[in-house]
Amino acid sequence: MSHARRGTVWNMLMSWNFKNWYRARILENQSIPDDLWKRVISRLDFLRGLNHVELKRLRECATLFLHAKQISGAHALVVTEEMHVLIAVQACILILNLDLDYYDDWVEVIVYPGEFLRTYEYTDEAGVVHHESEPASGESWLGGPVILSWEDAAASGRGYNVVIHEFAHKLDMLNGDANGCPPLHTGMSQQAWSESFGRAYTDFCEEVEAIERDAPEAGAHSAVGAGIDPYAAESPAEFFAVLSEAFFEIPLAVKLHFPVVYTQLALFYRQDPALRWIKGVPDRT
Ligand SMILES: [Zn+2]
Repeated sequence: MSHARRGTVWNMLMSWNFKNWYRARILENQSIPDDLWKRVISRLDFLRGLNHVELKRLRECATLFLHAKQISGAHALVVTEEMHVLIAVQACILILNLDLDYYDDWVEVIVYPGEFLRTYEYTDEAGVVHHESEPASGESWLGGPVILSWEDAAASGRGYNVVIHEFAHKLDMLNGDANGCPPLHTGMSQQAWSESFGRAYTDFCEEVEAIERDAPEAGAHSAVGAGIDPYAAESPAEFFAVLSEAFFEIPLAVKLHFPVVYTQLALFYRQDPALRWIKGVPDRT
């Protein structure tokens, strides 16, 4: 090993040691109080089946997340301690077996009392740029804040989870604009990811279109692919975010209806939530 290379390895080791020392200090001094922790995890059904070790790691991750991020209310919303922890735990379930570094390049979470106006621009066929706004329950900016509607965050469950949705977008944006393909781990196949998601997305869009055309009164939400939000048909990026919500919220349905996508998500998140649900017994002591 060259002198320069030895120096680089030494620097990496020192920075890794410093990071662990720093995290240990935060965990020692800013731990989430027991009663608050128990209250929060009792509200989140998708945590069922996590064992003691995983729950401890989730609590540590949420503690570090709360230290690293600034969560603030908009439109006079007071963000309580419980709301802070609820957001942190749901954000951290995605990175439970990854690392907090996955949320490294931004700081702010802004919480509105309800839906807020999202502004965007688009260019029409004549090349004219239009500025529009529409109500939204959540939004993630590349390198910027995550924005949430508390009304929607509080209504999460049974497949719908705006916090998981927005933080999935954050992971997707680690390699640029959200496109439905986050940076994959070593050993994962880009081709397998693209083929699995591409085929499932095409089938899903056809299913949504068919229901809207043939039986609009049936309500696409309940009828489409195992209760997956039809908003997933919006784009490959939304398909990934919505399937990530469902992966944690209703994993058995995802595994049954989108088995190859489930496999890719399990490889990416390094978790098997369907197995946790089959085990069934919540372990939250
Ligand atoms: Zn989205």
